[in-house]
This record gives sequence, C-alpha cells and structure tokens, in this order.
Amino acid sequence: MFHRRDLLKFLLFGTCCPTTHAEENPKWDLTVDAIVVGSGAAGLAAAATLAEGGLSVLMLEKMNSLGGNTVISGGDVAVPGSPVQLKMGIKDSPQMMAEDLIRAGKTVDKERVRFLAQNALSTWKWTQEKWGTRWNPDKLQFDEGQSVPRGLLSIPRSGFALFSSGIEYARNLKVQIRNNSLVEDIFFGPNGEAQGLLVRTRYKFPDPASGTQIKIRARRAIVLCFGGFGADEEFREMVNPSMGKLLATTNQPGATAESIRMAMRLGIKTVDLDQIQALSWISADEIGLGDAWPFIEQYSAFYGIWVNNKGKRFVNERGSQRLRSERLLEEIKNGHRIFGITTQNAIEHQPDDLQATEELKLRGIIRSFPSLEALAVNSSISYTELVKTVEKYNTCVNNAVIDEFQRNLSNTFPLNGTNWFVVEIRPKVHHCMGGIKTTLSMQVLNNKNQIIPNLYAAGEATGGIFGRSRIPCHSLIDALVGGRAAGLHILENTHSKNEND
Ligand SMILES: Cc1cc2nc3c(=O)[nH]c(=O)nc-3n(C[C@H](O)[C@H](O)[C@H](O)COP(=O)(O)OP(=O)(O)OC[C@H]3O[C@@H](n4cnc5c(N)ncnc54)[C@H](O)[C@@H]3O)c2cc1C
Repeated sequence: MFHRRDLLKFLLFGTCCPTTHAEENPKWDLTVDAIVVGSGAAGLAAAATLAEGGLSVLMLEKMNSLGGNTVISGGDVAVPGSPVQLKMGIKDSPQMMAEDLIRAGKTVDKERVRFLAQNALSTWKWTQEKWGTRWNPDKLQFDEGQSVPRGLLSIPRSGFALFSSGIEYARNLKVQIRNNSLVEDIFFGPNGEAQGLLVRTRYKFPDPASGTQIKIRARRAIVLCFGGFGADEEFREMVNPSMGKLLATTNQPGATAESIRMAMRLGIKTVDLDQIQALSWISADEIGLGDAWPFIEQYSAFYGIWVNNKGKRFVNERGSQRLRSERLLEEIKNGHRIFGITTQNAIEHQPDDLQATEELKLRGIIRSFPSLEALAVNSSISYTELVKTVEKYNTCVNNAVIDEFQRNLSNTFPLNGTNWFVVEIRPKVHHCMGGIKTTLSMQVLNNKNQIIPNLYAAGEATGGIFGRSRIPCHSLIDALVGGRAAGLHILENTHSKNEND
C-alpha cells in the first residue's frame, strides 16, 4: 500500500526508499570529537556542554551571520518555578508546564514534553550562571496557552542577549566556529553510525555551487541543530498545501529546508512536518515580526475589532492562535484584506505602549483618523458595513455579553470618539512544530524507529514538543534543554567508552 508518507518522499526525492550516503573509508580533511550543525540556541547549548566536558567541538553555520532564528527572537524563555515566579507568589510546576504543552499541542511526545518541563529550571540557571545571560528579576510574560505567567525576559529583551552570551561562553571554551559552512550530507560507518559530514565551505547562501566541499570526521558524535524551515515557501507548500506560498514569514532568510530534506533522504524519521504555525497578529506593512504586534494584540484584539475590507468581523479577536490564523488565512484566500481597529479610550486604558504607538504612527504602520468614516474611506473598507459592525459590537459590549464569535465582551469598551486607529494585519509563518524524531537523550531515530548511533538532534529541527500548536516562550527553552541533553548524553557515552577502552 502506498502511504501518504511514501508519497511525500516520492515528491521530495523521486524515491520512496531511504538512501544512506555510502563511501568506504572517506579521506577526511579534518577530525574533531564532535560536530554541531547550526549556531542557534540548540547548537550553542550542545556545543558548550560538549566543550565543558573536554571534547574538541566544531560548530558549523551555513549563513554568513551566526545565530539563526535565536538571534532575532524575543528571547523570552518559559521556566516553571523561576525565582521571579516565587517572588510574585505564582504557583507553577514542571507538571503544569507539561500539561499546558500537551493541552495545546495534542499530538506531542509526552515523555519529551515532561523531560523538557523537568529540566527547564536547571538549564535556565546554567545560562545565568555559566553563559552570563542577564534576566529581568521583576517581569514575566504571560501568553496564550500558559496556565500562569511563566516567560522570563532577558536583559535587554531580545534573543540577541541570549545568543551573544552563549557564543561568548562557547568561544571561551574553545569551540571552533565556522560560518559560511553548509552541511550537505552525513557519512555513516559500517554499523550505521554517523561518522562525519560533507561540508561546503566558503558557501554563499543561497548559491548551491559556491565554495568547495570538504569531509569532516566526528570521533564521538554529530548534533543536528539546524532549526526550522519557515522561510522555505516551496517545502512549506509541499508539506502543508493549505498554507502554501500565500504567507510571508517572521523567520530569518536561512530558515530553509535543505537540511530536513537531507535528513529524510537519509532515512531519518520525521514527525508533524505539516504542522506549521502562523502568527495572526502581525502587521502587513512590516518585514518579519516587526514592531506593531503589541499594538495589534493588546489594543486592536483586546479593546477593538478585526474586520475585512467588506467591513465585517469574522473571528473572535481573543481566540486561540490557531483559530485566528486559520480564519485569517481563509480571509486572505478569499482575496480580502484584514484590519485591526481601536479607539483612543483603549490607548488611554493601557498607556504602556504609548510611545511605541506614536513611533508606529510616524512610520505610517498605524494610522489615526478623526472619524470611523475617514478611517474606512482611507483604508478602502466598506463604510456602510463597518458602521453596522461597530454598532453591533458596541451593543454587545454595553450589554456585556458573549458575542456570536464566542468572545466575552464584558471587559472592554465601546468603540467611539474622535480618535480612531487602524492597522493592516497579515499572518506570517512563524514556527515549524515538526521535525526529526528523537529519544529523550536527543538520539536520532531512523524510519524503523532504531537509534542511529552517534547522531543527535535538538531545537526546532526536531518534532514532538509542540504537536499541533506551539505555546509562545517555550521554544527557546526546548532548544536549550535539548541541546544540553544531547551534549550530556554524548559525554556520558564518551566516558563509559573511555572506561571500557
Ligand atoms: C521573530 C521570532 C521571535 C521569536 N521569539 C521567541 C521567544 O521570544 N521565545 C521563544 O521561546 N521562541 C521564540 N521564537 C522561536 C525560537 O526563536 C526558535 O524556535 C529557536 O530560536 C530555534 O533555535 P534552534 O537553535 O533550534 O534554531 P535556529 O536558532 O534557527 O538555528 C539554526 C541554525 O542552523 C543553521 N543551519 C541550517 N541548516 C544548516 C546546514 N545544513 N549547515 C549549517 N548550518 C545550518 C541555520 O542557518 C541557523 O542559523 C521566535 C522566533 C522568531 C522567528
């Protein structure tokens, strides 16, 4: 019988049989103890752990700049039982974190989820104590899907803070770091063990013919930390045609799929590749994640409405991430534009982002108008319908009811006054929930569910933690815990091997 999985392989490689790279006794250009592929949070955690244990480590990054999605991320990290939670009297536990992830993701690998939750606090402490990452002692991020506020914020609040401290720590531990080095293939030994890599050095992304190929041997292990493929429209369309090429992405341009394709070609097991998360609260007029998302989420979703250019609402603006992005995608497929609308009383109620709002106005990302009519006319929204939509919404707000979209309108304001704000919204691809299937120690499995000796994976390159839906703040910690777990397991194996030698 021809399964969907086989069909996917056929489409991707023109074959339904896994192949392995076979070359007897390759002539190695370089030998190290361990190779880490990718320089994001997972790669840094793996490389630093291995180097702490005394191994010689080579970290390979295909892009000219290091850090992957990690360096452009918000840097928020979910940790149950953190000192900030204790200070604020918030009761949380690894069990609660695991339950949140299982509830949101549904099809997750429960054992891996529990492992992540149990190791989040100690791994986060490691970044504070060893990497020297600074964390805000007074604030927590509380996102959809978390039963309690759990997201620690780096200082400054950016993935760059985490990345720069991690790379400095790795450099101090003498990890060799090579950028412009694309890993193209894995060599396996006679017992199926990962032996080394075919690497294109002086690679200039995205030119596949740039640079030259060399062979690097890893005496102990290879850790695949190559991140997700959110920026690869073609691959996205193949694994999830419903999302297709319609959406832009928040990811860095190098978040492409050649590495996951390589893994599949080599018979490595993957899960949930079709599960791709799009964020619903992104400005249509900015590149990447942009700066308008707090306005869209906090003002236009909490104290306003989302309408299409026909002037109609179509979703609970406070609904789940998955529900909102699915409904927005439908609107886009129907050729509609989407707008978030709010008024002055929302801004006054929550003045935290006042300055940011003013800056976004100056840049033309948010526009303000003295009347609803002026807003509609200038945004090409049907005014006749928009008036009716706002009236209906205001009636529900005044009566504090749950509206037709199941949104509870008891704690917001009617939309009125002489200062109306509008921002155009367009969802963007943000996270790849699927990836390589691993054990708890991050050992890579093949399509027959067997461990591939000496081969590990961590971070967004893997699947199993988020299933159908990722909770914000939980992926960096997954990358850190996974990278560290892989490193510790390799060290354990190395020591027991040495004892037996
Ligand atoms: C804008 C944005 C904001 C985010 N904010 C948060 C947040 O606040 N909190 C949170 O928890 N998560 C956040 N995320 C998600 C999180 O950043 C990622 O899931 C996480 O950084 C993944 O880390 P990683 O190490 O697995 O991959 P990455 O950091 O993406 O690193 C992978 C690296 O591998 C390299 N690579 C790929 N293939 C090869 C190859 N064949 N050879 C050599 N190198 C290769 C890539 O170029 C890349 O540099 C955010 C994501 C984005 C895009």
